[in-house]
Amino acid sequence: MDKHLITGLILAGGRGSRMGNVDKGLQPFRGTTMAQHVLERLAPQVDSIIINANRNLEDWRAFGVPVWPDQTADFAGPLAGLQAGLRHCTTPWLLAAPCDSPFLPPDLAQRLAAAVEAEDADLAYAATQEPGMRAQAHPVFCLVKASRLPELSQYLLEGGRRVDGWYKDLKAVEVLFEDADAFRNINTLDELKGLDNMLAPSLASVTSCLSSYDPDALPVRDAQRIIRDFVQPVSAVEKVALRAALGRVLAQDVVSPIDVPSHDNSAMDGFALRGSDLRSDAPVTLRVIGTTFAGNASGMVPAAGECVRIMTGGVMPEGCDSVAPQEFVRQDGDTIELSAGVIRPGDNRRFAGEDLKAGSPALSKGRVVRPPDLGMLASLGVPEVAVQRRLRVAFFSTGDELRSVGEPLGEGCVYDSNRYTIYGMLQRLGCDIVDMGVVRDDPAALEAALRSACENADAIITSGGVSVGAADYTRQIMAKLGDVTFWKIGMRPGRPLAFGRIQSNGRSAFLFGLPGNPVAVMVSFYFFAREALLRMMGAEAPLPLLRARSSGAIRKKPGRTEYQRGILTRGADGEPEVRITGSQGSGILRSMSEANCMVVLHDEQGNVAAGDAVDVLVFEGLM
Ligand code: AMP
Ligand code: MG
Repeated sequence: MDKHLITGLILAGGRGSRMGNVDKGLQPFRGTTMAQHVLERLAPQVDSIIINANRNLEDWRAFGVPVWPDQTADFAGPLAGLQAGLRHCTTPWLLAAPCDSPFLPPDLAQRLAAAVEAEDADLAYAATQEPGMRAQAHPVFCLVKASRLPELSQYLLEGGRRVDGWYKDLKAVEVLFEDADAFRNINTLDELKGLDNMLAPSLASVTSCLSSYDPDALPVRDAQRIIRDFVQPVSAVEKVALRAALGRVLAQDVVSPIDVPSHDNSAMDGFALRGSDLRSDAPVTLRVIGTTFAGNASGMVPAAGECVRIMTGGVMPEGCDSVAPQEFVRQDGDTIELSAGVIRPGDNRRFAGEDLKAGSPALSKGRVVRPPDLGMLASLGVPEVAVQRRLRVAFFSTGDELRSVGEPLGEGCVYDSNRYTIYGMLQRLGCDIVDMGVVRDDPAALEAALRSACENADAIITSGGVSVGAADYTRQIMAKLGDVTFWKIGMRPGRPLAFGRIQSNGRSAFLFGLPGNPVAVMVSFYFFAREALLRMMGAEAPLPLLRARSSGAIRKKPGRTEYQRGILTRGADGEPEVRITGSQGSGILRSMSEANCMVVLHDEQGNVAAGDAVDVLVFEGLM
């Protein structure tokens, strides 16, 4: 059976009573929602998808497919959903699957379709069988002939609710599937969390993919790779009005509903004419029959030898395919003369759909929306878009020596600056932030802070306490709460880094334990945390490194990555040139402030001679 004969139906209309009366399908599961997993598994098997849901209809519509509530009142169960599906199905067959079955088989449609065809049946449903046991039917996974709606409606009207109760009125066949796990549905929130955690990769499984792994001498690129492979997107989706999408991450491809522009139109102020009137060897004279402005179709149809005065953006009159710009034309009353060969047929005409064709993707999922994107979406008439929900990031500083702004600075103390740089960097990424202040070097306080951060955020950023100082309990507590590894990275500044995922009360969060030194914090954030956070937000945005000429020599040891603060300017020859600024000590924030870029000297690189090209990360746009 051709898949275009089948509509997919996601049954999401249940009360979800075992989950505390929530919509099961909207529950987070492995970086997205359960229903999204079902949708992604079903979509390739069918022509199109519809959803049956009875609550939170706005959230369901954000999936970008039609949503239909039950017609039968009072949460009458899966059959009421099936009824709604059959009523709105536009193909001869309907394939139903529940919204809490994120592992449904990839060949569900194909196998059920083969069975109804072989048996000339009205319905086929899935079943599985454990060795030595009776087959277990899964009647909510079924392929039904759309024309059987009257039988189903009759059964519901008589008060029937059993999913397989209406088979007596039709020919139904059972299809045995091998993989019982594929039909597993998830009924309680605990079950959901259990699966979510169980199926997330462990750090050990990620690091085992590296050919050599030494946490005490880890190259920057290996650390980046482990982080990239370990974090997972936490993408629940929300719809926002167009303007509010600025800086957000698109959760779905935006497909153009219209041709842009919608008509062939003029690219110049001039005269619209028929290309067949043009001569390459002699001037032509044409009669002007009227004028057309942008914004309304003239309705004029020039005959051979005629033309229409047209303004930029004006709709091309019927039969015209070229525009002679007015500066090439001599006008005398209602005739114009055009010299030979100044324009060719087709010149200065913009085609309908030349910018974008109806049905073609205008912007793809994962894109961070920028000003031109807003404009483009507006040009498509799109009033709102689906974006990923904002990532929640909790952060705090650790250290007994830290004082917050506003407190007196006691002897031996420093003001907590990291919390402010981290605040700024997170803000620029568009995260929702939870500032948890300064936490003392005290095991109980650290544990409480980490747990609270974990229960309230998707990611946690801490600074300080990850090297091996005596009062640094941070590592100990981090390790206690989850799957966390402690690295010494081959880099300067910023050698120590803690990374992993911690758990508290059934919640989990990714953890970045950044070093304490103020410059090291920023470097570690940009080169490790930033990409990971963007990935969690569903966006792909690698750091944009440029090449620039180094104005002076730079000493550099091969075998580690060095990040030096630099000032990028245009050299005497107009080419980008970078010089190192100020003291490069890892605590000296002033030189970071003075800098407008960071020079990145990679592992294998040795001393840099004046005039050599180096990689540069420009702060503008990043900060
Ligand atoms: P730690 O990694 O905790 O040993 O900290 C390394 C250095 O960074 C120490 O000199 C700390 O005083 C300093 N430091 C740690 N956290 C902060 C902070 N939030 N603001 C400013 N300096 C800090
Ligand atoms: Mg400390």
